[in-house]
Amino acid sequence: MPTAAISPEVMAKYEPVIGLEVHVQLLTATKAFCGCANHFGSAPNTNICPVCLGLPGALPVLNERAVKFATLASLALNCTVNQRSIFARKNYFYPDLPKGYQISQFDKPLAEHGWIEVPTAEGGTKRIGITRLHMEEDAGKSLHDGFADSATRTYLDLNRCGTPLAEIVSEPEIRTPDEAFEYLTRLKEILLFCEVSDCNMEEGSLRCDANVSVRLRGAEQFGTKAEIKNVNSFRFVRAALEYEIERQVEVLESGGRIVQETRLWNASEGRTYSMRSKEQAHDYRYFPEPDLPPLILTREFLESTEAELPELPEARRARMVADYELAMKDAHTLTATRAYADRFEAAAGTARNPRRVANVLLSEVGGRLNALGLELEQSPVSMAGIVLAADLLDEGKISSRQMKQLFDVCFEKGEDFSAVYEREKPQQITDAGALEKLIDEVLAANPKQVEQYKAGKKTMAGFFVGQVMRATKGQANPALLNELVTRKLEA
Ligand code: ADP
Ligand code: ZN
Ligand code: MG
Repeated sequence: MPTAAISPEVMAKYEPVIGLEVHVQLLTATKAFCGCANHFGSAPNTNICPVCLGLPGALPVLNERAVKFATLASLALNCTVNQRSIFARKNYFYPDLPKGYQISQFDKPLAEHGWIEVPTAEGGTKRIGITRLHMEEDAGKSLHDGFADSATRTYLDLNRCGTPLAEIVSEPEIRTPDEAFEYLTRLKEILLFCEVSDCNMEEGSLRCDANVSVRLRGAEQFGTKAEIKNVNSFRFVRAALEYEIERQVEVLESGGRIVQETRLWNASEGRTYSMRSKEQAHDYRYFPEPDLPPLILTREFLESTEAELPELPEARRARMVADYELAMKDAHTLTATRAYADRFEAAAGTARNPRRVANVLLSEVGGRLNALGLELEQSPVSMAGIVLAADLLDEGKISSRQMKQLFDVCFEKGEDFSAVYEREKPQQITDAGALEKLIDEVLAANPKQVEQYKAGKKTMAGFFVGQVMRATKGQANPALLNELVTRKLEA
C-alpha cells in the first residue's frame, strides 16, 4: 500500500497499462428477453415475470430495440458489426441471479475492432482500440442496507434482472489515468448523442471496471493486472487508477510481485482493497444459449441503423466551430448534450448573426444558470428571447450593458427577455449633439490616452467609448457612439 510517496524518478521507470470494461444499460421500454418494464425506481420486485426470474419452462424472446441500440452504439464506436453473433450462458451462483446464469455473448460478440479518439496531454489525439461490444442482461440487486434487520438479512430486488446491457471492452492501450478519464468522457458523450443509454452512474446505468498493470518502460510484456470494481464516477476511476499504479510500483520496488486479483475501490478512504484473487475467480462454464437462435442482422437492418446515426460530438463540434466561428471551448459547452446543441442550432438559424446567439447564450444566460444551478430547460429566458437579444445587439438597438441589465431583470423576476424588453424599452441616446458633448468632456479629461491614440494605439478608441457609455449609463446608441468617437479622435 502506498505510504511514503514513491519518488517521481522511481514512478517514471514504470509504464501503466490500462484497459476498461464498461457496462451500459440500454434505454429500451422493456427488458432484453421479456416484456417487463425496463424502469429504474419502481417498487421492488414489481417488474418481474417467469422469464426474467428464470422459472422452469420460461423462454426468452430477444428485444429487437435492444439489438438496434447496441448496433447503433457499435457503429458510433467505429466497430465492425458481425452479421451473425451468438448468445451464450455465463454460469455463476449469486442470490441476485435467479436463473443461475446470465445470458451474454462470448466468442461471437455483436461487434469488434472499434476505437475512440481521445485528446492527449501533448495536445494531440490518440486512438484507443475497442476490442468488442457485446450484448448481455443485467442481474438483480442485493440490498444490504436500509432495513431494520439489515444487520442479519439481505433483501433482493429483481426488477433489474434482464435489463439489456451493452458491454464495451477496450484494448489495453490506455497509458495514464487521465487518458482513462478522457476515454470514459468521450464514450459517455457518444452514447448520449446516440440516445441509447442515459449513462447515469448514480443509478448504475453506466458502470466501469478498470484493469491496470505496470511494466518497466521499454518492456514488451504486460505486467500482471488487477481489476478494480465498485468505482462510481469517472473522477474516482482516475483516482483509483492513480492509487493502484502507485501501489503496484511500490510492491515491485520492494521486491514483491503482483498477484492477479479483483480489488474494490473505497471512495471514503481513497484506496483499493483486495476482494478476491485469481484462484477464487469464477469459472463461468460458457456455452451457447440453447433457447436463443444465432442473432442474424439483415443488410436492411444494418443500413437503416447506419442511417439513424446522429452527427457525433467530435464532428459536430468541428462543424460548429467552422459554421459559427466559435472557439473550440465554446463548442464543447454548446455540445454538452445533444439536446443543448440542437436547441442552440435551431435558434441560431433564425438569428441575424448566429455567432452572437452563441455569445449571448454562453455569457449571459449560461453564466446565470450556472450560478443558480439550473439547466437550460429551467431558464426563464427562452431561446427566442436569446435570439431577440442577439438581434437587438446586432442592430445596435441596445448596448451590451443594456442587454446585461435586461437579463438581470429576467432572472430576478423569472420573465422572458421579450417581455422585459417590451416593458422597459431601454432608452437610447441617438442625439449626435448630446453624445459629442460627452465625448469632448471625456477627451478633455483624459489627455494622456488621447496622446496614446494619436501615437498609433488605435485600440484606445474602445476606452473612450466605454467612458461615454458609463456616463450615459449604457444608453448611448453603440453604433453612433463608435462612429462619433472615431471621428473626433481622427479630427
Ligand atoms: P479477463 O480474462 O481477466 O477478463 P481480458 O483479457 O478479457 O481479461 O481483459 C479484460 C480487460 O482488461 C480489457 O479491457 C483488457 O484491455 C484489459 N487488460 C488485459 N490485460 C491487461 C494487463 N496486463 N494490464 C492491464 N489491462 C489489461
Ligand atoms: Zn420479465
Ligand atoms: Mg474478460
